[in-house]
Amino acid sequence: MRLESINPATGEILDTHDGWSDERLEHALETAATAARAWRERPLGERAATIGALAARLRERSEALARLASLEMGKPIREARAEIEKSAWACEYYAEHAAAMLAPTPVGTDATRSYIDYEPLGTVLAIMPWNFPYWQVFRHIAPTLSAGNTLLLKHAPNVPQVAAMIEEVVHAAGIPEGVFTNLPIDVAQTAQVIADGRVHAVTLTGSERAGRSVAALAGQHLKKVVLELGGSDAFIVLDDADLDRVLSQAVTARFQNGGQSCIAAKRMILTPGIAEAFAERFVDAVARLKVGNPLVDDTQIGPMARADLRDELARQVDATVAAGAHCALGGQPIDGPGFFYAPTVLDHVEIGTPAYHEELFGPVATLIRVQDADEALDVANGSRFGLGASVWTADEARGEQLARALESGCAFVNGMVKSDPRLPFGGVKASGYGRELGLQGIHEFINCKSVWIK
Ligand code: NAP
Repeated sequence: MRLESINPATGEILDTHDGWSDERLEHALETAATAARAWRERPLGERAATIGALAARLRERSEALARLASLEMGKPIREARAEIEKSAWACEYYAEHAAAMLAPTPVGTDATRSYIDYEPLGTVLAIMPWNFPYWQVFRHIAPTLSAGNTLLLKHAPNVPQVAAMIEEVVHAAGIPEGVFTNLPIDVAQTAQVIADGRVHAVTLTGSERAGRSVAALAGQHLKKVVLELGGSDAFIVLDDADLDRVLSQAVTARFQNGGQSCIAAKRMILTPGIAEAFAERFVDAVARLKVGNPLVDDTQIGPMARADLRDELARQVDATVAAGAHCALGGQPIDGPGFFYAPTVLDHVEIGTPAYHEELFGPVATLIRVQDADEALDVANGSRFGLGASVWTADEARGEQLARALESGCAFVNGMVKSDPRLPFGGVKASGYGRELGLQGIHEFINCKSVWIK
């Protein structure tokens, strides 16, 4: 297998890498198995301290790391820097809290003493996407390694340099070889790793298609699996919402990372008293976004990460417009080098169209008009996905009521959906299962062992 690093802003090949042979993969699996024994025996405090050191290494190398992500997958450089900072925050968070989260929990029973002990599961395979190529990986590294597991990374093939850089930084922080290993392998080899007896669990962040395939394989081999899959988050704006406040976040919620975010506000659901004003001002704000070279500081929208992803987005937009949606802005790829797609707003999107039902993974906002808050909830919950959702209203109690009725892994009132190391993150329905981050995230790859002593 050849891995190609392509600059999506120009289409130019930056670098090519050979994927690993099966022999090299076998050696890495053996090294990981050996390293696992020593790592789980290390005192938790020491493991957590190395995760703290990792936060410092990330900050030291922030500019180089950020630049690499912008070059390989087109993220605007300011967002890339923020991603490194957030990754460092997650490391710091678990360095500080892992010991308390994994402290044995006493439970009163008929024993003299009984308690729950939290032991590492072993070696976890992490299959990761390109869209937040650092954050997705570090939000898994920080809890999973703190807990005493070892980690194998199969990163997306279009970010091979980022993957190699992650391994370099992890080792520079004092995390030994074999405790974390980047595997430049293809999907067939990934299946072998899932089947391997030296691997105990799998986590996947990626598409629903990949989720179904990885879950089936993991099930066949009885491996624990966590799935962080796609989303089509609802962004419900009620008549009484503060329009200035909503608009200031609506554009970011949909267009950050070029719209290539699992928790982007992919369906904006508007009630009649605010829909017209929202649509008009939102289109104006989106039209002002600065599209261009992601390495330039004030760029707000870079290219899409790959040509095929842009083609798929164009197909979804064309089919939605052909079915009657109003294209209020954009609506086509941008001519010239690179994989740019014009920031787009589709209004009056109706049931039965791709923008209504599918995940649109790029700079395209979908506006859906409804009659009232009840219909907004029905439309929000009508999706196969259930990752995040937000509600915007001046009536906090009504907002909370709707938030609690939303079928999603998180629901925000008067704030855009975001991940936070302190809160569990994950989805329901076709958005997957299991949680990352928070207490629940560190407990995912743990043997909760009941110890009973008389
Ligand atoms: P993708 O095509 O599913 O790829 C994700 C990773 O899975 C890649 O490393 C890919 O490797 C691997 N993969 C795909 N099929 C596989 C299989 N059958 N067996 C083993 N590995 C397989 O997704 P993407 O395009 O990179 O990322 C975008 C998707 O991820 C969107 O749907 C987005 O919503 C979702 N996402 C979810 C979250 C979340 O937290 N819920 C966060 C970010 C992104 P290959 O390319 O080599 O196949």
